[in-house]
Amino acid sequence: MSSIQEGQGNHGGAGAGSGHGEIGHKSLLQSDELYQYILETCVYPREPECLKELRELTAKHPLSFISTSPDEVQFLNMLVKLINAKNTMEIGVFTGYSLLATALALPDDGKILALDIKRENYDMGLPIIQKAGVAHKIDFREGPALPFLDQLIQDEKNHGTLDFIFVDADKNNYVNYHKRLIELLKIGGLLGYDNTLWNGSLVLPPDAPMKDYIRNNKGFLLELNKVLAVDPRIEICQLPVGDGITLCRRIS
Ligand code: SAM
Ligand code: CA
Repeated sequence: MSSIQEGQGNHGGAGAGSGHGEIGHKSLLQSDELYQYILETCVYPREPECLKELRELTAKHPLSFISTSPDEVQFLNMLVKLINAKNTMEIGVFTGYSLLATALALPDDGKILALDIKRENYDMGLPIIQKAGVAHKIDFREGPALPFLDQLIQDEKNHGTLDFIFVDADKNNYVNYHKRLIELLKIGGLLGYDNTLWNGSLVLPPDAPMKDYIRNNKGFLLELNKVLAVDPRIEICQLPVGDGITLCRRIS
């Protein structure tokens, strides 16, 4: 899979009619000014210095548009605290921006199993994560997530052990991830899938103008949303923060 899978940012949106097209913000909000207002009023003034530093470093990366938005990162940080998560997983690390937000929210003995096919970008953010004093919570594994998850579920001891999982990687595998992650999640645990509104493209007609990577992956998000909507093992909540995050709470 190409890393260029995210539906947001200044590389353009889904195109005309999607709510926003060639824009420079990471939100589904229709007004750039309103999004800027949120960042400047609620997010940046309260952003921990280390997250600011990592955000600014990531902005220099040619693929910076795939990183999680600052308002979503603020949300994830609060969410992890609210549910008192301790044992967590992230699939799709990039430079570690959402990872750092989670690590900061965890207690000192909290853990994040962090999976990404490419270590290079994580290494870019790692000095900031180390300086923030939370690197000991992170167990980074380089490689494709799916075979790793298959390995994990083979051991029954891993079943029902995770309090929180954030999935932000290859969209074509989201449904495959779901089949495995639900086994690893605790009953009462929370699983978040990122980019589930796929830049607003999900409701556009097939002939609407949109970037190739939006068009090519749109079906995977449509499929995931259908699967989650009817899965009796979870309660769900679709939030239009960032590019859309679907929260799934395991109930059985
Ligand atoms: N959560 C990150 C952040 O806040 O900056 C952004 C993650 S980025 C959208 C997607 C990441 O998924 C990329 O770093 C990419 O290398 C990784 N990825 C793609 N395919 C993968 C796979 N099969 N297994 C694990 N990671 C994968
Ligand atoms: Ca994302």
